[in-house]
Amino acid sequence: MSMRRLTVALAALGIAAAAPAAAAPLDVIARDYVALVLEFGEHEEGYVDAYYGPPEWAAAARANKRSLGRLTADTAALRKRVAAENATGIGAARRSYLAAQLRALAARVAMRQGLRLDFASEAEELFGVRPVLRPLKSYDAVLARIDRLVPGPGPLWQRVDDFRKRYEIPSDRLKPAMEAAIAECKARTAKHFALPEGEEFDLEFVSDKPWSGYNWYKGGYHSLIQINTDLPTAVSRAVDLGCHEGYPGHHVYNALLERELVRGRGWTEFSVYPLYSPQSLIAEGSANYGIDLAFPKEQQVAFETSTIYPIAGLDPAMAKALVDLNRATRSLASASYTIADDYLAGRISRDDAKALVQRYELSSPARAEQRMKFIDTYRSYIINYGLGRDLVQAHVESAGPSQAARWQAMEKLLSEPTLPGDLRK
Ligand SMILES: [Zn+2]
Repeated sequence: MSMRRLTVALAALGIAAAAPAAAAPLDVIARDYVALVLEFGEHEEGYVDAYYGPPEWAAAARANKRSLGRLTADTAALRKRVAAENATGIGAARRSYLAAQLRALAARVAMRQGLRLDFASEAEELFGVRPVLRPLKSYDAVLARIDRLVPGPGPLWQRVDDFRKRYEIPSDRLKPAMEAAIAECKARTAKHFALPEGEEFDLEFVSDKPWSGYNWYKGGYHSLIQINTDLPTAVSRAVDLGCHEGYPGHHVYNALLERELVRGRGWTEFSVYPLYSPQSLIAEGSANYGIDLAFPKEQQVAFETSTIYPIAGLDPAMAKALVDLNRATRSLASASYTIADDYLAGRISRDDAKALVQRYELSSPARAEQRMKFIDTYRSYIINYGLGRDLVQAHVESAGPSQAARWQAMEKLLSEPTLPGDLRK
């Protein structure tokens, strides 16, 4: 019997429900929210990124999904019920979270019905943050600096691509390199977090995907981490992916949410993860910042030269030049927002967008094509990586210079219903 039916039945008898009166309505709202997300997931493949709640709820959504029109009306109605709830303390955070996730769901259902927003508005509706779109010209000074790092004839992207080719992990060395990187990311995270008992992941190598790595959370503290081998993996990407997909990134975030909120508090809404929602800004932002947190300052290159370079059969003396280049290219991340804005609005062609990606992300035609596939598939989702990282970084580092304080701030962020608006800038 559902809590709502129990409450109604008891009310009919003039008896108050045994559950705390303030908690019950949000539990009912949470159950309705999960149903809406699962049913909309039946209309849009990939929308439900993870679900590990009761299997019969997923089966019910598969068997009997509401139409897009009904989902629109019922999402609007549920948003009104959330707004009418009185909650305090952590309950207020829970209510705000449900409200923000439902706003994103409403936008996504509307997009499925044909709504087209400009890039910044779409990002704001889905992920809760409005990105600033800077003119591409403003990135030219960064390109000029990189030009001096990689001098020579030919277009800059070509020189950078030739330079990066020297750092590729040979395909037969990729598995041991990834395993060593993930093990180190995990050891560093486990020093600061009490990870859920029995947490584990499987590692798979796949091809023909629009992304370079993916974490599929299965529930029960278990993840499937997939690494795309369409294009070679650079030596510095092993640690990046290990932290981002694994520790303290997606695998840990999902496992902490499950332990603290789903099992700890019985908050079923966290057993479903809708990809196009503010949760993704927190997920991608914390996964990207997790690399810097786990390997502060020169620690990443120190670990890579002692462990990953030898596994990959590469000369560790080359490492510093790659670090310098990666640092210099970091501030180019938001150029793709401007390019995607023009491309998705139809102001530039796909070929023009691809050429701009090549110029401003300094990538080969093959990598630019992979990037375009990502933009075609995920659209404004791309803001979650760079902007998400900047927001999470500012928030966590406001805890002070101590590493222990920063890990503590990160653990809190990963274990509570954190929204982009909760991050201190
Ligand atoms: Zn990610």
